[in-house]
Amino acid sequence: MNVFIKMLINCFFCLRQNKDYTADWNKHANRTRKLYTCVIALVLAMIQGCANRDKISQALYIKGDLVLDYQPRSNLVRKHPTPCKPKYPIIDVHTHFSNALSPAFLIEKMDALGIKAIINLSGGYGVKLEEMLEKFSHYNPDRLIIFCNLDFSKIDDPDFSEQMVESLRAAHAKGAKGLKIFKTLGLTVKDKTGQIVAIDDVRFDPIWDKAGELGMPVLIHSADPVAFFKPTDRFNERLMQLKRHPDWSFSGADFPERETIIAQRNRVIARHPHTLFIGAHVGNSAEDLMMIGRLLDSYPNLYVDVAGRVAELGRQPYTARKFLIKYQDRVLFGTDRYPGKAVQPRYKIYYRFFQTDDEYFNYYDHPFPPTGEWKIYGLFLPDTVLEKIYFKNAERVLGLRQ
Ligand SMILES: [Zn+2]
Repeated sequence: MNVFIKMLINCFFCLRQNKDYTADWNKHANRTRKLYTCVIALVLAMIQGCANRDKISQALYIKGDLVLDYQPRSNLVRKHPTPCKPKYPIIDVHTHFSNALSPAFLIEKMDALGIKAIINLSGGYGVKLEEMLEKFSHYNPDRLIIFCNLDFSKIDDPDFSEQMVESLRAAHAKGAKGLKIFKTLGLTVKDKTGQIVAIDDVRFDPIWDKAGELGMPVLIHSADPVAFFKPTDRFNERLMQLKRHPDWSFSGADFPERETIIAQRNRVIARHPHTLFIGAHVGNSAEDLMMIGRLLDSYPNLYVDVAGRVAELGRQPYTARKFLIKYQDRVLFGTDRYPGKAVQPRYKIYYRFFQTDDEYFNYYDHPFPPTGEWKIYGLFLPDTVLEKIYFKNAERVLGLRQ
């Protein structure tokens, strides 16, 4: 496609250069040829463009020269190889996988990656949850842990709270170890009034209390990266990502403000001190670690996971390192992947990030940056901190260790 675009641009500039020409027949013929070439190149570029709609690459102007598909390769020489294994066993508290996977496959991949246990946050509810528990938890309850979800479609039922409390109790009795709340709550879930249901809606209060009573941590995903709530324009730091996933943009009047959603979540955490909350993706505020630090100071029942936010942490290594050391008892390892997932694998990148002092490396194993257009820097966390973030905090939160 690049070749065709270059042809197109060249033709365009040629035509512009020849625009004063009127007399010379040969030159005129030459111009017509260029025009035909230009049209053919345009059609081919459109065909190619349709075929490659989801492939977006960098294009830069450098002194008037258009550089397409720019993919600079760092010439920095690394002093040590990427670690394949973590220094301590891992508990990944943030994975998603379906019933289609085999537990034996997961265990094999976990062993290869040094992973002790994983939590599947997509356990579901009802029959799906029962199947999930049957297939995975019964296979290996210590290593394949399932969190359940809630059925928000019942929000208009007069006994919604009671139904959900009962669903949680039943899930716990069958082996679910925690509750995962997806980001739809506070963002897109509506009730019969047509209003978006707030995270701190009182109908949920008995559910949060029940989770605390049962000792089930609530891993809650509220809002999303800052960029997803900003206009998708040339100033947006995740513009390329939002071009690939326009449905991830929550900018505009159809959605609540990001700050509103975060505030609702914070009020829930404050109102239920006996329930343990894990803010997914560094509480979805990895862009502002000072703010999330203040929340951790205010709410002893709040923890955060690092899933999918190594890109954010790794571009601010000084601040991130201080943050993780200061809050070493409140941070849990997570990836938002599962061991053996072929698309954008993360484990080895995460080990490199937390363990080494490597500089300026990719936060992704993918042909292009999946989130922001930047590189990351390793944090070389002290061993005692690594141990806690890798598994000790998760063991405490899940009640696996006293
Ligand atoms: Zn997730």
